[in-house]
Amino acid sequence: MYTGECIFCRIASGKAGTQLLYEDEDAVAFKDINPQAPFHILVIPKKHFENLKAVDDERLMGHLFTVASSVARELGISDFRTVINTGPKSGQTVYHLHIHLLGGRYMMWPPG
Ligand code: AMP
Ligand code: ZN
Repeated sequence: MYTGECIFCRIASGKAGTQLLYEDEDAVAFKDINPQAPFHILVIPKKHFENLKAVDDERLMGHLFTVASSVARELGISDFRTVINTGPKSGQTVYHLHIHLLGGRYMMWPPG
C-alpha cells in the first residue's frame, strides 16, 4: 500500500478538492489543470501505481480505457487521443499512472 504524498492519490481520495467528472470503485476522471486541447481529461486508478511499468492488473488497465471511452462519449467527444507517458524521457511528470484523454482539435502525427 502506497502511503507517501502523491497529488493524484489526494485527488482520487477527494482530499484535494478537485471536481471529479467520473468516479467508481477503482477509477476517477478529472480535468487536467494545464489543458493541451479543448478537452483534456485524466483517467486514473484509485490505487497508486508509479506508471505503466508498475501495473500488474490487466483487468484494471482495460477498465481505465473503458472509462476513458465512456467519459469521451458523455462529453460528446467523437474523436480523441489517449496517451500514457511512461518515464522521464516520455514526459511523465506525475508518478501516479494516468491516461490522458485529449480531444476537441486536430492532433498531429507523429506526436512530439
Ligand atoms: P504527465 O506529464 O504525463 O505525467 O502528466 C501529468 C499531468 O497532470 C499534466 O498534464 C499536468 O498538467 C497534470 N496535473 C498535475 N497536477 C494536477 C492537478 N493538481 N490537477 C489536475 N491535473 C494536474
Ligand atoms: Zn498516487
